[in-house]
Amino acid sequence: MINEYVSRKVSLKDINGCLICQKPTTTVLYNKSGPDWFYTCDIHLQDNPEFVKPIYGKDYETKTNRLKSVQQELHRIQKNNDPSSWDGWVGKLFIKKNKNQSPDKDKDKDKDENKDGDNNNNKVGNESTGNRSDMLQREYQTLLDELTHLKQNNRKYQLDNSLYENRVQRRIRTQRIKETYTATNPEELAQRLATFPNVPTDKP
Ligand SMILES: [Zn+2]
Repeated sequence: MINEYVSRKVSLKDINGCLICQKPTTTVLYNKSGPDWFYTCDIHLQDNPEFVKPIYGKDYETKTNRLKSVQQELHRIQKNNDPSSWDGWVGKLFIKKNKNQSPDKDKDKDKDENKDGDNNNNKVGNESTGNRSDMLQREYQTLLDELTHLKQNNRKYQLDNSLYENRVQRRIRTQRIKETYTATNPEELAQRLATFPNVPTDKP
């Protein structure tokens, strides 16, 4: 048995008491490798490392690392470009916005559209740090959205070690019951397994 549980919703007719607080719930943490399962309220799965920790996987890790380096580079650009700035990115965004909104600038842009090859090159040259900063800010926001999405949709969890140890012990005892009742019908066996009392834990 490995310490990896997936949260599942069961139908209303299978509603049962939460392992932690005994309130009726339809969320089950299921461990395929046991199999092992128990009921829990959704709320206990959030920010509750004494009970469970989410398993986010490789994609989440990669994106988190990228987010950190984007953040660092943005801070570096901000520092180099505008050491005296009263409000780094926001200040720059404000200036940029004003520039773009200026009607003269827009007219110039329209006029110069024919020979835009030359013009564009100049623009890129002048505003390359700004463009880089814009690009990074966009990437930062995208990464942030993606990470939030991964977090919200995560269904994999790892149990706290001592709780997991209890589940393993319980599993061994369940196995013994199974061996005893193999001859009886599956429904009775399932019922006995479902009502099998939890091993008391140290945690409240
Ligand atoms: Zn609960």
